[in-house]
Amino acid sequence: MRPKRVPLLRSALLCSERQGELALFLILPLPFPIAMRICVYCASSNQADPRFRTAAFRLGELLAENGHQVVYGGGSTGSMGAVADGALSKGGEVIGVIPRFMADLEWQHPGIGNMQVVEDMRERKHRLLTDSDAVVALPGGCGTLEELFEAITLKRLGLYFNPIVLLDTLGYWQPLDAFLHQVIEQRFMNPEHAAMWSIAAEPEDVLPAIRNAPAWDTDARDRAVVR
Ligand code: AMP
Repeated sequence: MRPKRVPLLRSALLCSERQGELALFLILPLPFPIAMRICVYCASSNQADPRFRTAAFRLGELLAENGHQVVYGGGSTGSMGAVADGALSKGGEVIGVIPRFMADLEWQHPGIGNMQVVEDMRERKHRLLTDSDAVVALPGGCGTLEELFEAITLKRLGLYFNPIVLLDTLGYWQPLDAFLHQVIEQRFMNPEHAAMWSIAAEPEDVLPAIRNAPAWDTDARDRAVVR
């Protein structure tokens, strides 16, 4: 039986830029496992090393086996297609969010029942992140990078609070992780900002990384400005 999805980690402040609009969460012990909606950012390329797609497929399997919902960009190719195929192969629930122009080009995955067609890339990004309980970024190109940086930026500003995990297949994210630490060393961000993301070496490490992610809460804005 699929665990009941409980939005325990959900960020109620996502994209609410009105000051002082706070949500109160009552955290109670739950008698059932917590299922999450996990937003997966990943590549469309079929030309990258096949091990990236293998890891994406495995991640999809693991998320589905653990009863988590996958929300992703809705594509059929590359790691996007692989993560969806992996989740679907285990009977998982997959939501695709695709802009109309991509749907018109028939880029969407044909096996996704819940395919949400949106007007543009902005709406897609917003829809992907809103109501997600965690973000997982797989190796990818500029589209993946843009999505990842939006999530990190919103988290820094206290507009997103949930874990952001980088699946580091073949050490892909090491240069980016080093660069972000340089950003901190050069004082464009605060040292505390390094807690906004974490690295998972293997697909099996992703859910533990989500569970163990440092808490990030409503005082994020207090440390947003570099001191
Ligand atoms: P990238 O990591 O550059 O491949 O970008 C991944 C993102 O690019 C996806 O989330 C989509 O926004 C977009 N994208 C690019 N090509 C495709 C495609 N053939 N099908 C679906 N999405 C695509």
